[in-house]
Amino acid sequence: MKTATKASLKQQIEKLRERIRHHEHLYYVLDAPEISDAEFDRLMERLKQLEAQGPDLITPDSPTQRVGGKPREGLVQVRHSVQMLSLDNTYSEEELRDFDRRVRQGAGKKKVEYVAELKLDGMSMAVHYENRMLAKAVTRGDGRMGEDVTENARTIRALPLSLAEAPLTAARLPADLEVRGEVIMTQKAFVRLNEEREQAGLSRFANPRNAAAGSIRMLEPGIVAKRHLNYVAYMLLDKGHVPLAEQIQVLEALTTLGFKASPHQFCSDIDEALEFCREWEKKRDSLPYEIDGIVIKVNSIALQDELGTTAKAPRWAVAYKYAARQAVTRVLDIRVHVGRTGTLTPVAILEPVAIGGVTVSRSTLHNEDEIRRLGLKIGDAVVVERGGDVIPKVVRVETSERAKHAHKLREFAMPKQCPVCGGKVVREEGEVAWRCINVNCPARLKESIRHFASRKAMDINGLGEALVDQLVDSGLIRDVADIYRLNEETLANLERMGRKSAQNRIAEIEKSREKPLDRLIFALGIRFIGERTATLLADHFGSLDQLEKASLEELEAVSEVGPKVATSIHSFFREPRNQQLLEDLRKYIQFEQKKRAVKGTALAGKSFVLTGTLEKYTREEAKDKIEQAGGHVTSSVSKKTDYVVAGADPGSKLDKAQALGIKVIGEKELEELLSKS
Ligand SMILES: [Zn+2]
Repeated sequence: MKTATKASLKQQIEKLRERIRHHEHLYYVLDAPEISDAEFDRLMERLKQLEAQGPDLITPDSPTQRVGGKPREGLVQVRHSVQMLSLDNTYSEEELRDFDRRVRQGAGKKKVEYVAELKLDGMSMAVHYENRMLAKAVTRGDGRMGEDVTENARTIRALPLSLAEAPLTAARLPADLEVRGEVIMTQKAFVRLNEEREQAGLSRFANPRNAAAGSIRMLEPGIVAKRHLNYVAYMLLDKGHVPLAEQIQVLEALTTLGFKASPHQFCSDIDEALEFCREWEKKRDSLPYEIDGIVIKVNSIALQDELGTTAKAPRWAVAYKYAARQAVTRVLDIRVHVGRTGTLTPVAILEPVAIGGVTVSRSTLHNEDEIRRLGLKIGDAVVVERGGDVIPKVVRVETSERAKHAHKLREFAMPKQCPVCGGKVVREEGEVAWRCINVNCPARLKESIRHFASRKAMDINGLGEALVDQLVDSGLIRDVADIYRLNEETLANLERMGRKSAQNRIAEIEKSREKPLDRLIFALGIRFIGERTATLLADHFGSLDQLEKASLEELEAVSEVGPKVATSIHSFFREPRNQQLLEDLRKYIQFEQKKRAVKGTALAGKSFVLTGTLEKYTREEAKDKIEQAGGHVTSSVSKKTDYVVAGADPGSKLDKAQALGIKVIGEKELEELLSKS
């Protein structure tokens, strides 16, 4: 390559990197994106292309290098430069005033200034920068020793890979410094992760904190990147080099350096700090992430040093913890739900109760062991807690209430037969769950059909819960292949079904026959196979026949497929009933991998809702265009919608989109998106 071209390539790359960093910062640190995700992906794609032209120009702080690390064997222990202390907790105004009294005594002052910061519920992590470049990230561990999670930390987009050379208040930024903060997962990322895990037959994370802590310690950075972790900084070490006199300046400096700092406030005394605590306790539900309290720190750094620390915690800071969002209610009944894989899950039916603004009327009890652990009986008064998860949980039984209701209490026993089909239930060695093993169990069949038709599987619009119940109960559907044997006539004869809606549903079913292979693999509902694994398998094998033939060894050769997953796939295809089903399905669905033209385009996997009148296209035309480009169009706005396309005189869908914070675009932007694919 000629030097001149090389120089211009370098310049182009650098400009593009700056632009991408700017948008990463807007999105992940300031929560104020200016461009769509698709546009952002396009910039990244462009940068990758340019860097491919000049591989020697790739620097470790390029935005393309966030996921470069290889999977590791295990985590390496690292000693912290300065111990990561924990904080003492306070639970009441009185305890907080005691803290203030001790601080004022120690300082010999009548009044002390504080900074109050939201206490994010995640996992603490120290991040080291050398020569302004991210060099090492270490989890808190036991405070003295943590684990090196550098490769995973690099995937967190709120974490700068290199620090801006911005003037730091009065002083220049030292080349080496350490930032401390919290790795967190937003509610949205958490809910999505649990949905995916559930689909894949994996256990759900109990709360965003566990999910964040589990994710940052994973061995494979590629998977960590998909967990969408976030980072909020609260402390800057090496402050000896940086003449920052106050904690409030530390937080400002972190912001200047490109970090996200926890929302905070300067407080001229403890009364103001208390006011801040009360204010946020009311507002905590409106945050996109979980907080469990407020941290109150002495503002003066000199006074912090003077007060020092005990063996475990600083004397100049304290956590004010919020009460968990709990309520006491009564368990009216325990019902048993039968899932797609036949798993029997006990569910507590509760006397409806409001917890943090949401009415709760049922709660999963997970399995028989959990009921035993709680010592729960039907009729008991229980404490129910709503954590980060959308599903509330029973924390404990209020045994003190028992005397009053003793005559009404009933023991719960797990049914010895399936509550739906009356078939045999078994509990396999090493598993906590009981399962109905009747493959013809209507409950299992209904669940597996719902799964097959669901949005992320074959996406058969209109094959909803009520219709599936109707079809299975009337014997019209005995397996998923029967879906394709339905015709307009049969459907139109069903109760509450008109000719027009029968037509629409048949059209939807027809459309699903063209779905790509990864969706079909996912739709089959093989245990442990989520969307992601399905995509990997489709890419690797290229057709369902190849996947079916694969040996255990061949399956395990696919990246991210371990022995457990391989065994599950292998035995699925060797089960005669499944073989019969596949033979049937083959008549209706293509088993080969479709051309991947759809993948990698700007609209792949994106969901659109159209509202109002467009100038150039009719609704149907716009829908076709979007679908050709890999996107899909649904009729109503939900939190899963990516874009709402608003034409002239938009309807209530626009209001709903705005209320949910869904990106709204016009016809021109839609055309731009389409032209890119
Ligand atoms: Zn059953």
